[in-house]
Amino acid sequence: MKDDCIFCKILEGKIPSQMVYKDEKVTAFHDVHPLAPVHILIVPNQHIDDLNGVTSGDESSLGHMFTTAKLIAEKEGIQDSGYRVVVNTGAGAGQTVFHLHMHLLGGKQLSNKLC
Ligand code: 5GP
Ligand code: ZN
Repeated sequence: MKDDCIFCKILEGKIPSQMVYKDEKVTAFHDVHPLAPVHILIVPNQHIDDLNGVTSGDESSLGHMFTTAKLIAEKEGIQDSGYRVVVNTGAGAGQTVFHLHMHLLGGKQLSNKLC
């Protein structure tokens, strides 16, 4: 856990969130400023700043983020209508919270523009 990290504080229950999933590796909660009808953040329970901070030891958590995204998409009923997962890395890519996270977006027709 990192003292000044918002997502670590959410994981520790010090900041409230609308949690939708938690297990030993990852936690998922609703984004506070949703950009789509379904906008959920999936984060590793262990603090990693961003994708640049990832090592081979993190591979099981990273893989689990994807299977969790699929599971949540099913729970939210968007597995067939389509959804997108996004991992912003660095301020230049729009990252604002420096605890690695995956955005799961869906529930509407998403733009085909990636950037
Ligand atoms: P980034 O821009 O770093 O890829 O995404 C960070 C996301 O975290 C943003 O979409 C933002 O709305 C969300 N966020 C920031 N602070 C909080 C918070 O305190 N609670 C929740 N649930 N989401 C947050
Ligand atoms: Zn953190």
